[in-house]
Amino acid sequence: MAGRVHVVGAGLAGLACALRLARAGAAVTLHEAAGHAGGRCRSYHDAQLGCEIDNGNHLILSGNRAMLAYLADCGADGELWGPDEAAVPFVDFQTGQRWTVRPNRGRLPWWLALPGRRAPDGGLLDHLADLARLRRAGDSDTVAGLLGGSPLYPRFWRLLAVSILNTPAEQASARLLWRTLAESLALGGAACRPLFPRHSLGRTFVEPARAALDGLGAELRFNNRLRAVERSGERATALDFTGGEIRLGEGDRLVLALPPDAAARLLPGLPALAESFEHNPILNAHFRLDRPAALPGGPPFTGVTGSDRVEWVFARGDILSVTLSAAGNRADQAAEEVALAVWRELQSILGLADTPLPRHRIVTERRATIAQTPAQAARRAAATAAGGNILLAGDWTATGLPCTIEGAIRSGHKAAELAL
Ligand SMILES: Cc1cc2nc3c(=O)[nH]c(=O)nc-3n(C[C@H](O)[C@H](O)[C@H](O)COP(=O)(O)OP(=O)(O)OC[C@H]3O[C@@H](n4cnc5c(N)ncnc54)[C@H](O)[C@@H]3O)c2cc1C
Repeated sequence: MAGRVHVVGAGLAGLACALRLARAGAAVTLHEAAGHAGGRCRSYHDAQLGCEIDNGNHLILSGNRAMLAYLADCGADGELWGPDEAAVPFVDFQTGQRWTVRPNRGRLPWWLALPGRRAPDGGLLDHLADLARLRRAGDSDTVAGLLGGSPLYPRFWRLLAVSILNTPAEQASARLLWRTLAESLALGGAACRPLFPRHSLGRTFVEPARAALDGLGAELRFNNRLRAVERSGERATALDFTGGEIRLGEGDRLVLALPPDAAARLLPGLPALAESFEHNPILNAHFRLDRPAALPGGPPFTGVTGSDRVEWVFARGDILSVTLSAAGNRADQAAEEVALAVWRELQSILGLADTPLPRHRIVTERRATIAQTPAQAARRAAATAAGGNILLAGDWTATGLPCTIEGAIRSGHKAAELAL
């Protein structure tokens, strides 16, 4: 391929794009504003906790095929682990009831006929009817609008919707929820096994990608923010970075793997980006215990219903972490208040009454993802929306999937294919 591809943004979309290009033998430079790669999926040493933590727990599944291909591209296949069986434990904060959703491996969903394997509030017909409704969801349907009357809604669909779409079920796009289920639950348990980084997000998704890019001779430039794109018609002709200007030759291309507001500032007048996107925060509360953290049952995570402070609990090493999506009402609360209130709920859920509030860190990602409403889903930009030699990537672009690791990586792969 003639020319160089400048990929801007070293989140997972940019890393995946640069890797695919470099593997195909293209000349690639990856530019990143921050001093590190990973974007919204990263790990760092936290001084207060005295250990490495992830910015937020990331739930990934064995059906995330682009994510698995990305790890194979990085040579990091062994960095994920997970149980052999698809099993997702839940506990209800109000009643203490516990159950585990356990889809069988194959596509024929006989698990739905067994009360001990499905969600507790509905029978086989309720599960089938809800899945059929979701499958037929229209562009303007919300999850609550479609499934709000189902007995499964309060303790199953509502939690699934807000966690997968980072948007309250009343506003969340039903079609986007179906897209995730179509690539997991609808394919059977083999595609629903939860997977976890062995050590941290950084060591699984970021460091191996950096090493692979280095090995392939790609250029990586950190602390290099793109400030402006000079254009002639639709073509990008020069890039103004904080580290200096780069003039683009005939065969050079530009991939903007950036959040939508950053892309909009660089491409003023682009109709797809004329209106800014609303975002929702995700809050993570990390607690460092003085012993290994453990959760009842097998998997190191559990879904929590009936609480407005705790949606998922994860255990890794001596860290217990809680995730709350669409955390708009908690994002402005003082961290100490949040930590204490979340810890009280954890004490009750996990029987930790005797353990005083441990060392903790509250991480609120205010712009964790765009709000995934039907209206905003319809505005997501195609990779080719900017025209000329410019391509767009990022979890918010029109991948057809929710804004997730899988969506971000797929957008990066798509941009790479188009650039090639
Ligand atoms: C707390 C939290 C929890 C999450 N949980 C899950 C989960 O459970 N499962 C899941 O699949 N997904 C989850 N996600 C979503 C997932 O992390 C994102 O979808 C994914 O990381 C987005 O990657 P990206 O490359 O599209 O964007 P980003 O990671 O935002 O990358 C964009 C990069 O561009 C850089 N940049 C911005 N402006 C410029 C500029 N002008 N010049 C150069 N560089 C620039 C930024 O610094 C950044 O590194 C979660 C996200 C958060 C925040």
